[in-house]
Amino acid sequence: MFVSDILSQKGGNVFSVTPGTSVAQVAQQLSVRRIGSVLVLDGDGGVAGIVSERDLVRALASHGATALELEVRQVMTRDVVTCDPDESIDQVMEMMTRGRFRHLPVVRHGELLGLVSIGDVVKARIEEATHEAEALKAYIVAG
Ligand code: AMP
Repeated sequence: MFVSDILSQKGGNVFSVTPGTSVAQVAQQLSVRRIGSVLVLDGDGGVAGIVSERDLVRALASHGATALELEVRQVMTRDVVTCDPDESIDQVMEMMTRGRFRHLPVVRHGELLGLVSIGDVVKARIEEATHEAEALKAYIVAG
């Protein structure tokens, strides 16, 4: 199974904000949309960074309530790791484990195609394992 299989199920919509969006607005959007991170896109649509609930917790811990007034550019991660739609589920699981993050934007030739979360990846892995087990069971019964 590949990243492209996940995207064909969930679609390629990615919620994004601009670098000047306030931390308070980002927190509200994470809550309303029930998501764990948002991409930060610059004026040209390029990926400027990513901000997850973990960054908001860090900002609150170091700035207190005034963190809510900061701009997202002040708290986001700038070096965003991305993946290609042709990468396998196992490859992206390894990237997430090694990088200690749970979100990966999917980019090909500079074009943003979607975003996969660890939840999407685990779901796909479980589906794959279920199909494998069913195929093995059918093989044993048939034999
Ligand atoms: P997460 O586990 O995705 O909530 O994120 C944990 C930390 O990694 C936060 O500081 C995020 O800004 C950062 N992060 C999340 N996704 C990525 C990514 N694809 N590339 C680089 N950093 C990321």
